[in-house]
Amino acid sequence: MKYTKDGRLILSDSMMKIYQDCGTRFWFNYHEKPEELPRIPALEFGTVLHSMFEEFFKRKNPDAKMYISASNFANVFRGKWFSIDSQPKTERGKRKPPMLWRSPDEKEKLLGAGYKVCIDFFERNQTVPFSHVMVEQFFMVSLTNEKNGRGYALQGYIDRLELKDSNAPASFKPEELGKAIRESKDGSLLIVDYKSGYKPTSSAAVAIDTQFSCYDLAVEMMFPFHERRFAIENVRDGSHTPTLRGEGERRVLRERIFSIGRDIQKERYPLASNMYKCGTCSFLKHCYSLQKFAHQKGIHPEDLMRTSAPLKIGKKNSPMFEWKDGEIIKVDESKLRQAEKLSTKPVQLSFFVDEEEVAEIEEELNTGTPTAHAANIVERVMDWETPESFAI
Ligand code: SF4
Repeated sequence: MKYTKDGRLILSDSMMKIYQDCGTRFWFNYHEKPEELPRIPALEFGTVLHSMFEEFFKRKNPDAKMYISASNFANVFRGKWFSIDSQPKTERGKRKPPMLWRSPDEKEKLLGAGYKVCIDFFERNQTVPFSHVMVEQFFMVSLTNEKNGRGYALQGYIDRLELKDSNAPASFKPEELGKAIRESKDGSLLIVDYKSGYKPTSSAAVAIDTQFSCYDLAVEMMFPFHERRFAIENVRDGSHTPTLRGEGERRVLRERIFSIGRDIQKERYPLASNMYKCGTCSFLKHCYSLQKFAHQKGIHPEDLMRTSAPLKIGKKNSPMFEWKDGEIIKVDESKLRQAEKLSTKPVQLSFFVDEEEVAEIEEELNTGTPTAHAANIVERVMDWETPESFAI
């Protein structure tokens, strides 16, 4: 987790989406980071295409023989995609994780799709003046909750901002990227988010996508003098799915930031509200291992999470668990004792608890000789049913 210099927790739309889906997944993703997971081809595909679109408008040396034609541009993509499953060292000196190909020809299929996307992108954009476009625009917006004085920062990147219907002079010089947006006071802004999936995004899905509300808030602060419109660009066919945002969505967004920010700062990491969310979770195995361990020890999983990766500004703690292939393989005993003392939350029976085990416990209780383990479970379930016990 990152903070601004003045102590504001920094959030992004994707962080908030993960948290809303499942607090435990958020903890795995942003705090615990148990181990490197294989790379997902669809995500890598989107990342490579984003970098191609960014480079198209940002090429540093316009005289170099690069991007002189659509096929030249698409061949640069081809080169990048060919080497996608090599595992070079990252800036931190670690090897990139392997790719998780779903079929033997997935790489080849995505190569063909990406090649076509690049040809089409080149043709659609070769007459767009560089001065009228900004790409991968970083933003960070500060927000303060007037009720309690808590401050948060919202950060993100906008794929593309384009000035439309302006009289500002056009330029194709890369160093003048975005000049008209910054300097002109006429025209309107089209804020675009690229999507590279197979199916075009539906209007209903775009209408409720909180990402555009984040863009709206950021652009209102950066360029308040321009009108703004929003759209998804489905890069496989170049179609746009337009959407609108206004004051109502901005207010909802502010409340969402304050509410999620507060829950994160209180170190609340609830499980997914339903198991459908788990089907696509990359941490399914890790989560099962953690819940099983918590169950064996009779400790609330959230107490284990808080102890393993406590939220502290500027401090990095050594984690409590060592992980391998989704399993806990080592536990720091002193931290485990700290977790036992916490017990700040009532314990909810995890949906990972084995049904057989529950049946065994029920039998023990029926015979009137519950073991300490069974008694512990019963106590926890009773806690769970007491409304007052939800108070933090
Ligand atoms: S497996 Fe389910 S409960 Fe566990 S982290 Fe993933 S989404 Fe959350």
